Amino acid sequence: MTVALQAIYALRRRMPFSKDSLLTSFNDLGLNPALLTAITAGKYTQPTPIQAQAIPPVLEGRDLLGIAQTGTGKTAAFALPILHRLAAGNRRPAPKTCRALILSPTRELASQIAEKFRAYGHDSKLSVATVFGGVGMNPQVQALARGVDVLVATPGRLMDHMQQGTLRLDAVETVVLDEADQMLDLGFVHAIKRISQALPKQRQSLFFSATMPQNIAQLAAGFLKDPVRVEVTPAATTVERIDQQVIFIEAERKRALLLEIMANPDITRALVFTRTKHGADKVARHLGAGNVPAAAIHGNKSQSQRERALADFKAGRIRVLVATDIAARGIDVTGVSHVVNFELPNVPESYVHRIGRTARAGKDGMAISLCAQDERAYLRDIERVTRQRIPSTDRRGDEKLAAATAAEPRSENRPQQQRPHGHGQHRGGQRSENRRGDSNGGHRSEGRGGQPQGAKPGQKPGGGRRFGKPQGQRPQANRDGGQRGSVH
Ligand code: AMP
Repeated sequence: MTVALQAIYALRRRMPFSKDSLLTSFNDLGLNPALLTAITAGKYTQPTPIQAQAIPPVLEGRDLLGIAQTGTGKTAAFALPILHRLAAGNRRPAPKTCRALILSPTRELASQIAEKFRAYGHDSKLSVATVFGGVGMNPQVQALARGVDVLVATPGRLMDHMQQGTLRLDAVETVVLDEADQMLDLGFVHAIKRISQALPKQRQSLFFSATMPQNIAQLAAGFLKDPVRVEVTPAATTVERIDQQVIFIEAERKRALLLEIMANPDITRALVFTRTKHGADKVARHLGAGNVPAAAIHGNKSQSQRERALADFKAGRIRVLVATDIAARGIDVTGVSHVVNFELPNVPESYVHRIGRTARAGKDGMAISLCAQDERAYLRDIERVTRQRIPSTDRRGDEKLAAATAAEPRSENRPQQQRPHGHGQHRGGQRSENRRGDSNGGHRSEGRGGQPQGAKPGQKPGGGRRFGKPQGQRPQANRDGGQRGSVH
């Protein structure tokens, strides 16, 4: 199995963690007392494996290559030693500079990283600021004018500030590139190279990625000097821990089926995934009309709309959040009981990312995928990449769902004219219509069919990989012929 796949399977670690962490306690890591107090306040009892392995070398000032996903505790793995070193340095940042720079692919992740820095650094009096698109420049300009200790930024807006002269990077002591694979996938490679050139040669660099294909390894090689490599090995694969099922259904009956699924009171907090932003809006509207309070979150929503939707979801004011893959990346919401794939992702790895949202903080979850005829190829790729057969039920031809669909308003149930939805053609479906994305928010609009880096045009998803023997039940054979697409 490739390193990249191992990393994907390491998606979510359970706590308490493996024997690596049992050998270490936070007290042994050499962090200052203020940080130890904040860790205890955060109710962390033991370092996660990535923390146990990464904190000591980062405290020493070494560069680090970390192969780990969101959910492994990687934010604290870099935030704690960075805060320790900044506090020990006891310097004030010069105006329009920052001492530590964290680069994040999305606004949501940037906000979460900043939140963690603020929580861990609560007693250290270090300043933390964020810089990302979708919100006004002026408050950011003002925060930068004084200089900040920790700046968490998305690449596009960071470059805007550099170009306007409101920020210089020549005083950066430590730089972190978080979720590097996402950065590349979102087309930020040139931005990252330009940002790297503006950084001082003498610096500490940390580089995190969930996967390490060749293009990421090359980027890391140019970014890091003699790095310590830390890789979180999987304790259990995501697919083993999550109860999964596939329901075969006609594309136009998915909405009716989703409402039926949501009638189950066991679904206390659900994330519903669509492939497109427009699809997310439609599904959220349909749920709302069916008395299931829901909100959609995607790159076309304003920052305040997204923050409100996320806050309502976290607080339990809405039961369902409908999201696109990119909007959901990095979002840390605990207690998601169910993930529903309203549409299957065209990139098999996204399936693993999506369903992993329901297995946070050691809990197991349930993932239900609605699969229309033209998504069968995606399902086969997912099963091949995750080396499993997902148990399936067949609801095609169901009269109750047919009646519910017929009762929908005409604009909702009319099948949409789609581009042909051929296998492999949509592998880049999460790509942007806005190459520069994050000046505008760090998000890409889904469904425009660009090609992610490293995927050749027309390449078959999962092609060229070798996988182990499939286990479990086979999906039922295809019985209907050629439904139209389900991309909304
Ligand atoms: P991350 O991978 O950084 O997104 O962290 C995933 C989640 O694990 C976050 O909710 C953290 O607050 C939590 N976390 C991080 N480190 C620990 C730890 N040592 N013990 C328990 N929870 C942790």
